[in-house]
Amino acid sequence: MSKSSRSKPKEVGSKQLPIYQHKTKLTQAVKDSTFLVVTGETGSGKTTQLPQYLYEAGFCKDGRIGITQPRRVAAITVAQRVAQEMQCTVGREVGYQVRFDDCTSEDTVVKYMTDGCLLREILADPGLSQYSVVILDEVHERSLNTDILLGLLKKIFSDPAKASKRRHFPVKVVVMSATLETDKLSAFLDNCPVFAIPGRTFPVTCTFGTAVGPKDLESTGYVREVVKVALDIHTSERAGDILVFLTGQSEIERACDLLYEKAETIDYQYDVQDQTVDGILILPLYGSMPTDQQRQIFQPPPPGIRKCVVATNIAATSLTINGIKYIVDSGFVKQLNHNSRVGMDVLEVVPISKSEAQQRAGRAGRTSAGKCFRIYTKEFWEKCMPEYTIPEIQRTSLTAVVLTLKCLGVHDVIRFPYLDCPEERFILEALKQLYQFDAIDRSGKVTQLGELMVEFPLHPGLTRALLKAASLGCQDLLLPVAAMLSVENIFIRPGHPEKQKEADKKHKALAAKTGSMNDFATLLSVFQLCKSSDRPSAWCKDNWIHWRALKSAFSVENQLQEILLRLQQKKDFPVETFSGNKSELFRQCLCTGYFTNVARRSVGKVFCTMDGHGSMVHIHPSSSLFDQETELNWVIFHDVLVTSRVYIRTVCPIRYEWVKDLLPKLHEVDVYELSSVAREEVTDEEMIKWEMKEAAKRQPEVSAEDV
Ligand code: ADP
Ligand code: MG
Repeated sequence: MSKSSRSKPKEVGSKQLPIYQHKTKLTQAVKDSTFLVVTGETGSGKTTQLPQYLYEAGFCKDGRIGITQPRRVAAITVAQRVAQEMQCTVGREVGYQVRFDDCTSEDTVVKYMTDGCLLREILADPGLSQYSVVILDEVHERSLNTDILLGLLKKIFSDPAKASKRRHFPVKVVVMSATLETDKLSAFLDNCPVFAIPGRTFPVTCTFGTAVGPKDLESTGYVREVVKVALDIHTSERAGDILVFLTGQSEIERACDLLYEKAETIDYQYDVQDQTVDGILILPLYGSMPTDQQRQIFQPPPPGIRKCVVATNIAATSLTINGIKYIVDSGFVKQLNHNSRVGMDVLEVVPISKSEAQQRAGRAGRTSAGKCFRIYTKEFWEKCMPEYTIPEIQRTSLTAVVLTLKCLGVHDVIRFPYLDCPEERFILEALKQLYQFDAIDRSGKVTQLGELMVEFPLHPGLTRALLKAASLGCQDLLLPVAAMLSVENIFIRPGHPEKQKEADKKHKALAAKTGSMNDFATLLSVFQLCKSSDRPSAWCKDNWIHWRALKSAFSVENQLQEILLRLQQKKDFPVETFSGNKSELFRQCLCTGYFTNVARRSVGKVFCTMDGHGSMVHIHPSSSLFDQETELNWVIFHDVLVTSRVYIRTVCPIRYEWVKDLLPKLHEVDVYELSSVAREEVTDEEMIKWEMKEAAKRQPEVSAEDV
């Protein structure tokens, strides 16, 4: 690691941040104890400044400073900002790493990364020997991976004597949070000190609207309403920028289109109250946006122009945009939740919590008094919005993290130190899934296959299918599919109805080219066709495919291939043989990972899932199997979309024989004896639980640092 000592004339702005006055005391506090909790209002400078202070104080002499973020966009944008402040190129002294995108080098000493990446690093290096400081940022967001990291770091570094055995210098763990729950965090981390950065905020007046009430939970009419409110602000309020909160990309794009359209009709001479304002600059902000576009968000608007940023929740705490005076709050957020109706994790639009609404409003009061316009009614606030957001660990599937913990030697995943315990049934559900994928055995121990599976940053089912293909020597079929399912949606869906028709036609033609109705095969075919094209970007444009998404898919495929090649060099890598045609081979491999997502035709167009939930599902209109009147009786699917109906998406027809031997694993009973499934299921879960407890008694608990 190079220790270049460059002079860093920082921007004057950073000295005005509330954190600056506490620079010396803060670095001292980090030196003084293993764990430290740092709190301060959003925008006070924690994320961008503290790592720089520690760098200046010489913390990089012994290792890197690592800072985790729950969101990948935040990791990337913040790294770019800090690199700019430290006057270096991103990827040199300051770098970032997110899933499938590593922008670090030998020189990198300040490394921003997603919490998922740090978790993977612990797997390879449980003592985190590269790091001198680990900063868990945005802990108040309570993301699943951050919560797991909290428990792991507590376990690894709580006992300094044990921790220092494996390294020559003590690691420092800093946990940063926007004011919430700091006592609880300190108590969790051995009653460590709390450093509070005093910050000043200005009052924000909040008003409720009339557009969204308790009856409007399922409608998306709020997009029109936020647009209307934003334009009202623009024409009737004094200068100051606007921040609009919506839930996701397509909604944001629609809102921006509407805003452009309506803003064009404003006559600034007569319609606008504040005559210093003579235009509006509309900027979208969401996760999968190209980063150069994201950078624009932070630039001050030209004189006289009002900036209006239309964002997802990312602008609530992870990123602070200066100059915001007005907030338009839709009251909704997109969240990954375990849906008990279908027994799967589903991305859903749900009302935000009251504390989240307060956080959103607070963004208007950073530098002067502000206003927050809530488009929902007081009744909606009272009846539909919970007090606090439930931590992710208590509402999503734990399959992947339980496997990670087990691979780290944390055998008793029920008694792991959680800041807030997940429900036991979620842990049992995860164990059951891992058992179904052959990742753990009946005693809860990780199998050889499980050790291979944990290496892939993919959903365990997809990994299982990929490994099956690799063992049969046909990974070239599954690697592109895994890559395509790991990037944003590749099919362009234009807003204009005519263009939509054209796009649909092209997409249908692409599906037909595969000769089979199978959405997975379509993904494979699009990947291959584009890759072999002379002019891939033109090919994409012509076929209404996102070129940027495909480019990422190419890179992801490469990275997955590298992981696979590394694992295949191990002597125990499984090898199997197969006779039959390639299309069957492809679908059979998929079945190995997706047998938990099997559905059988029930009546007409209705299918019924076979996982014990027996949910009634429909094939999504975007599927090539939609409206197909064939003998299609059995299908597997990648995910579901829940609206008033449950839709299955990315669907593939299969034969019952291919899953016949796998399905009993879902219940350990004959698949047709569905009535007795519930009882049998409990028995199975109880069995694993009991066996785990017995195993725990037999052997002393192994902790992460002993691995
Ligand atoms: P905290 O982590 O305490 O919420 P940050 O360190 O993220 O605070 O932000 C401190 C300041 O840096 C804010 O005023 C914010 O607007 C500014 N800032 C952060 N990222 C950028 C960027 N990419 N461009 C311009 N300003 C930025
Ligand atoms: Mg921050």
